[in-house]
Amino acid sequence: MSLVLDGKALASNIENELRTRVERLKQTTGRTPILATILVGDDPASATYVRMKGNACKRVGMDSIRVEMPQETTTEQLLAKIDELNANPDVHGILLQHPVPAQIDERACFDRISLTKDVDGVTCLGFGRMAMGEPAYGSCTPQGIMHLLEHHQIELAGKHAVVVGRSAILGKPMAMMLLNANCTVTICHSKTVNLAEHIRQADIVVGAVGVPELIKKDWIKTGAVVVDAGFHPTDEGGCGDIELDGIQEIASAYTPVPGGVGPMTINTLIRQTVEAAEAKVQS
Ligand code: NAP
Repeated sequence: MSLVLDGKALASNIENELRTRVERLKQTTGRTPILATILVGDDPASATYVRMKGNACKRVGMDSIRVEMPQETTTEQLLAKIDELNANPDVHGILLQHPVPAQIDERACFDRISLTKDVDGVTCLGFGRMAMGEPAYGSCTPQGIMHLLEHHQIELAGKHAVVVGRSAILGKPMAMMLLNANCTVTICHSKTVNLAEHIRQADIVVGAVGVPELIKKDWIKTGAVVVDAGFHPTDEGGCGDIELDGIQEIASAYTPVPGGVGPMTINTLIRQTVEAAEAKVQS
């Protein structure tokens, strides 16, 4: 039987710790950590994610400021709003919900967020610093995965990790974090030839492709650690990017879908906002 890397349980435990830290901040400084969320446009899935993030703030006693901007917002208008939040001393973290409408230069807007408020880990500066091993908030999904692996004492040094996907928010930072943890890392993507052969060599497989069950159970080496970042709603409650049915017979450890990687993402955002608020008090 394999170890279940239960993100739901870990996130819940971390929330309990965060509640205590937020309470301590309030009592010692009179300040409440505040996350500003920016939602541009009317994508219902994005609105749900922003609402979930606001709810997570409430659960640990933090406040959130919800900024909503219309679908026709320009890059200049969004940059001006980010400047305003950067300058607001009450705001400790800024989350710009991805994706923004197509007319907006999303990269320019992400990069406008101050490094000290980049609690979602989306800026090029933050990525570069993380890659170099300097302090920075990590992109939330891969950072949450690292936390889950570390919590379960999954051995990383010397292991061959195969990350499938190379997006700016997930695949690339994931690969860099695993490299920094002394894994030997292979990054696969849509142009990779013979994906199955790469995965067969992996001690750790991370599925971050956005295609339901693209990665087949038969490709996974016996004893590998399987991390599935994908989530696709189904009648049975959802599936990931990896075929997980029967994976217990093959993997030494795996993240369930749902309840594995997903809960760790918002948890990491909230944790990094609390850290930003604590850092501000100390500075
Ligand atoms: P994305 O931006 O669409 O990137 C997908 C990556 O997968 C790309 O690098 C793409 O390669 C690669 N890919 C696509 N088809 C492939 C194929 N047939 N073979 C090999 N590689 C392929 O997606 P993302 O934002 O990184 O998200 C990836 C998954 O993680 C999704 O299922 C998403 O729902 C999930 N996710 C979960 C959370 C969470 O909170 N749990 C957060 C973010 C994302 P190219 O670069 O060559 O196009």
